[in-house]
Amino acid sequence: MRDVMSNRNWIILALLAVTMTAVAQQPASAPQNPQPVAAAQPGQTAAQPSAAPSGQAQSDQSQANLAPPTTMDQVVDRVIMREKELIKFLSPRTPIVETYLQNLTQDPQLGPIPQDDHYFLGRMDLSDSIDRSDYLQEKVKGEGEGMEKRLLGGITKRFKFQYQPLGFSWMIFADRNEFDRQHYNFHYARREFLGDVRCLVFDLTPKKDAGRGRFLGRIWIEDQDFNIVRLNGTYAHPSRNNYYYHMDSWRLNLIPGYWVPAYIYSEEGDFTAGAKNKIAFKAQTRMWGYNLKTGTANDELTQIRVDSVKDETPSAQDASPLAAEREWQQQAEDNVLERLERAGLLAPAGDVDKILQTVVNNIEITNNIELPRPVRTRVLTTSPLETFSVGNTIVVSRGLIDVLPDEGSLAMVLSHELAHIVLGHNLGSQYAFNDRMLFSDDVTYQNLGFKHIPEEEAAADKKAVEMLKASPYAQKLDSAGLFIKALQKRAPQLSALLQAHLGNNITENGTVTRMAQLANSAPALDWNKLDQIAALPLGGRVKLNPWDDRVEIVKAQPVAITSARDKMPFEVTPFFPRLSRYNVAGSPAATTAAAPAATATTANASPTPTN
Ligand SMILES: [Zn+2]
Repeated sequence: MRDVMSNRNWIILALLAVTMTAVAQQPASAPQNPQPVAAAQPGQTAAQPSAAPSGQAQSDQSQANLAPPTTMDQVVDRVIMREKELIKFLSPRTPIVETYLQNLTQDPQLGPIPQDDHYFLGRMDLSDSIDRSDYLQEKVKGEGEGMEKRLLGGITKRFKFQYQPLGFSWMIFADRNEFDRQHYNFHYARREFLGDVRCLVFDLTPKKDAGRGRFLGRIWIEDQDFNIVRLNGTYAHPSRNNYYYHMDSWRLNLIPGYWVPAYIYSEEGDFTAGAKNKIAFKAQTRMWGYNLKTGTANDELTQIRVDSVKDETPSAQDASPLAAEREWQQQAEDNVLERLERAGLLAPAGDVDKILQTVVNNIEITNNIELPRPVRTRVLTTSPLETFSVGNTIVVSRGLIDVLPDEGSLAMVLSHELAHIVLGHNLGSQYAFNDRMLFSDDVTYQNLGFKHIPEEEAAADKKAVEMLKASPYAQKLDSAGLFIKALQKRAPQLSALLQAHLGNNITENGTVTRMAQLANSAPALDWNKLDQIAALPLGGRVKLNPWDDRVEIVKAQPVAITSARDKMPFEVTPFFPRLSRYNVAGSPAATTAAAPAATATTANASPTPTN
């Protein structure tokens, strides 16, 4: 058992590196971890407070029974204990992990801008070690190398570096297996506030013989229960052909007693004059779905629920053929939404939906649209820019809402899907059969799809423009057109962000096709015009609760844009969540604003939708 674990440990360590050699050579270049397998027992350190329980103690009890530490040594012991308890607490969970990465090139006017991009989505298994399964299997091409390819992520020969998706989420823990005094030196640095939370800051360095791949950097500890809330650094001593990313990892206090890993920002590269870049990228990794059920065992429950819903609606008379058709569509719609929510890909119904619904209502009322069933809206939890509709529900991705500059552009996005519904372009009735919902989460994208034929796409665009022109948004279509223009400017470099996984692509071969006619009447795109915000960076508008997948609109103060480089349309920025404790001031969860509007250094405008 021990041997298997340690073996697995070094395989995983190999995965967090960027390998510079060909895929076939990868296993040979894996760093060996010379660490003895006899891991230290928790709680064996010298300065342990006498009241400390054994390492097996339950978290809540141990918290209650522990006296506050009086020395820094005691604090370190508590930090180690709490980290081990978090690892244990999370071990049965399989959160979703998403990494979006932009390779950078230097633009003389705009600074580092995206050159190309990569997208990874999967579920992490935190049980023995850290492993992951990918949602994007259809993108992996080639035969006979399934497992290897899957672990290494979407790799093409074009790239000099192979990004290994697991590497980006590695820093959810400083050290999964050996976070202790035997392997690390803890140096107290200072006290510091992160948001509302007072923290003790420690620098961590691996001990001399601690082996390869040990954490090297800084940790922030909240000073109440001594949980790690932030880690910032890299891993020491990569082997020759490997490279460890630098990471900034944030946790949120979303449930009592625990701070769960939520965001990791990674960045490499140096654009100073004369610097030779081997690698330059920015990447955002998000974790969510901690509270999702694992596996397919609950599929039976789904069916039971569908049946009981039917029982509650007694019908006095038989359904007419048209009524039956609508009932069938409704059943398909409910099945799909429920299945996506269970896979962690759809946020539960909430406040953001109401904002989207208001915009839809504004278009409907002014166009005298009356549908037999009300149009609903929902939010996909993922970053790629996409929309689709199933039955009478319009679904928009979190990433797309993030980058839209204003309500006019939001109306444009929603009007296209509303047009599909109005025109009766109904997709997905096959999902009224419940057997079609019985698949495991990681093949969701292979089992569900809502793509229209080109003729329906064109008809929806035409109808959408018609409806917009009759709506309150008629005077706001310039910004929608500017958004299309900005997207067109960046589309060739952002193929991963623009790859739809459930609906139709917004672009085709690097050209924007969706609602493209609105660009014709829009003003010229000018990066130097500081008051022209055509598109926003990712992550500035919608925040996703990693525990329960709820989404809400970020309440961030707009930060003044001082140069063209501050605009960063469609770009990845660092995370800087405002940390707060669970339940403080009646807040259901930590208030978290993503970086763009929260830091002075990455200034950014984040205009709120207005009428
Ligand atoms: Zn469409």
